[in-house]
Amino acid sequence: MIAASTRAVRLARSIAAWFDAHAVRLPADAAAGATGSRWRRIDAARVVPFVAIHAGCLALPWVGVSTTALVTAGVLYAVRMFAITGFYHRYFAHGAFRTGRRTQFVFALLGATAAQRGPLWWASHHRHHHVHSDEADDAHSPQHHGLAWSHFGWFMARENYATRHALVRSLARFPELRFLDRWDSLAPFALVALLWVAGALAARYAPGLHTSGAQLVAWGFCVSTVALYHATFSINSLAHRRGRRRYATRDASRNNAWLALLTLGEGWHNNHHHYPAAARQGFFWWEVDLTYYGLCALACLGVIHDLRPVPAAVRADVAAQGCER
Ligand SMILES: [Zn+2]
Ligand SMILES: [Zn+2]
Repeated sequence: MIAASTRAVRLARSIAAWFDAHAVRLPADAAAGATGSRWRRIDAARVVPFVAIHAGCLALPWVGVSTTALVTAGVLYAVRMFAITGFYHRYFAHGAFRTGRRTQFVFALLGATAAQRGPLWWASHHRHHHVHSDEADDAHSPQHHGLAWSHFGWFMARENYATRHALVRSLARFPELRFLDRWDSLAPFALVALLWVAGALAARYAPGLHTSGAQLVAWGFCVSTVALYHATFSINSLAHRRGRRRYATRDASRNNAWLALLTLGEGWHNNHHHYPAAARQGFFWWEVDLTYYGLCALACLGVIHDLRPVPAAVRADVAAQGCER
């Protein structure tokens, strides 16, 4: 009876955590990664929204397709990927440039619409990855935990749902970022509502666009977000397995041009592990890094500044070129 009520409370908390990330509290031993803990297991109730976004793609035969829907999906993919790569990753996790408080919040909000949790959660786990890359403690090392776990198993585990606050104390000074981190699902919900209203208005007042609320949500949110998910996740999984190693980093990171195209430049992952502080990840002119070009454009407009370059000596340090691991 006690066990049943404990399970019911646990289930209720997992469901509440769809909206409030603080609904599930992590005990200290689980946060520290104590092995054998039940917190290592996947939280089946908490992953329902993630599964539901995938399931939303099954609605495509019913909602149909239009140029409007395809353009919306493409634009939302590019803009949100840039917010994740340029800001969640290069700014919040690595401090690769500087910007004002308003700009950091705008891009944090845009990044949150990608439904990859809040900026503090994302940055804290990513910082942990760089400290423990491809060690047993690395939550998403394909070398230690397998490709599927590194791709999308690790963030469904109870222990990894929590933000590693000790690693992002400087970012946690901003209450608006803490708010976004706790209520991270508000941003994707707002995007869904916006798409629905825009599609419904288009259906009524601009029938020539051949779209609807349901169609814009299915393409603009579900398809676009699922594509964003798996492109982003592939950096944790495939970019530590497939590609070339220019630098002898102590992890198994690789440079992969295909992944770099999909992720606006993040596929130059071996470069990035070699020198994570830089604003650019394509170290040479032929290594296309669309995020970096976008950041340069924002710097020209005065929106961001002090982009950290790759020192020439660091870039030239190819003594162990092609080394295998
Ligand atoms: Zn990595
Ligand atoms: Zn990084």
